[in-house]
Amino acid sequence: MYFNERIETMERLQLRQLQSERLVKLVKYTYDNVKFYRERMDEAGVKPEDIKSIDDISKLPFMKKQDLRDYYPTDTFAAPMKDIVRFHASSGTTGKPIVAGYTQHDLDCWSEGVARCLTAYGVTKEDVVQVSYGYGLFTGGLGAHDGAQKVGAAVLPTSSGNTSKQILLMKDLKTTALCCTPSYALFLAESIENDPNTDVEKDLHLRVGIFGAEPWTENMRKELENKLHIKAYDIYGLTEVSGPGVGGECEYQDGTHLWEDMFFPEIIDPVTLQPVEPGQEGELVFTTLTKEGMPVVRYRTRDLTHLIYDKCRCGRTMVRMGRILGRSDDMLIIRGVNVFPSTIESCILELPEFTGQYFVTVDRVNNVDTFDIEVELRPEFYGESMDKLLHIKDRLVGRLVSVLGIKPVVHIVEPNSIERSMGKAKHVLDKRKLSN
Ligand SMILES: [Zn+2]
Repeated sequence: MYFNERIETMERLQLRQLQSERLVKLVKYTYDNVKFYRERMDEAGVKPEDIKSIDDISKLPFMKKQDLRDYYPTDTFAAPMKDIVRFHASSGTTGKPIVAGYTQHDLDCWSEGVARCLTAYGVTKEDVVQVSYGYGLFTGGLGAHDGAQKVGAAVLPTSSGNTSKQILLMKDLKTTALCCTPSYALFLAESIENDPNTDVEKDLHLRVGIFGAEPWTENMRKELENKLHIKAYDIYGLTEVSGPGVGGECEYQDGTHLWEDMFFPEIIDPVTLQPVEPGQEGELVFTTLTKEGMPVVRYRTRDLTHLIYDKCRCGRTMVRMGRILGRSDDMLIIRGVNVFPSTIESCILELPEFTGQYFVTVDRVNNVDTFDIEVELRPEFYGESMDKLLHIKDRLVGRLVSVLGIKPVVHIVEPNSIERSMGKAKHVLDKRKLSN
């Protein structure tokens, strides 16, 4: 089922035409209204009239996260402040946050993107959608909310936290679709397991899980599907480009469709900055083709992935993105080896003895990187003998060595001893960064 069949199944030639028209307009609009774009284009020797079609996009300069910080808070806005109707901001754990401004048209496009995703997941006006993403500056809560409302579903805006109330309302209002981060979904699932008054099969009506805002793995998908008796879907997005709903999976779950009539994707080699061959892995770059408030042109996301242009079995012609291997921001370099936390998570979830909760600590002692991982036992394995636990630990270490190529020190910890996340999970402490 489609939310916007004409667009979602548009012939690619026609789509290309639409993208070209929108890019030409966007480049003139940003050049005329934003000093940042005017200066960068002048430096690159490109004028708006040099951009005649989407094929010319590679002539345009890139934008990076640091540029948005340097032009904090609103100097990259293209619309006058009287037309801005909402702000959001990135979490900004280091330095200033990134502020995004939206016009009413931007909010309409954003909620359309989310509505297309929800419809692809089978959500209709018959559903009760519980939004357990945080509401506020974070785009997750209000973004999912507006999209669910656009579909005509009944929205239950619980925000994150207060888990026992979440479960109570989930039961009593018969929630069918749950939107949150995968780590919060895991925490909710564990809380339901430990709640003697709630049985997933008998008391809950969940059917669909809509998870995003952090990278997650196929093993986490299986875990959440088994625990919550749902089909779990990925929703992709980022504040700099709009918010959740830049793309989402369809029922075939063979990649994430990107709504490229609004968000034009490219893949570049992060070193040479040249476009890669179609289908090759590289850094994802977005140009917002319809945004007015804070448009971005060739914004480097630092997400590493590849694009699939073949028509999908679902009938959508919109390009699909492969699973994000990790944000290059999240990547750790330990003893010269690239390590993504999502790879560690995937290995841990292959073993039935562990919950998906883990914590990685990296440090440097005597010029050598240390690499420690705490993993949490499931309660039913807590009473096992020391021999058995050592055996389980060896299996995990063996698996991690074969996948990562380096050996971590694994510490098995008791059930529920790793702090749970209500929003985006914090799985890593890199002490090397603290001492520099
Ligand atoms: Zn599809």
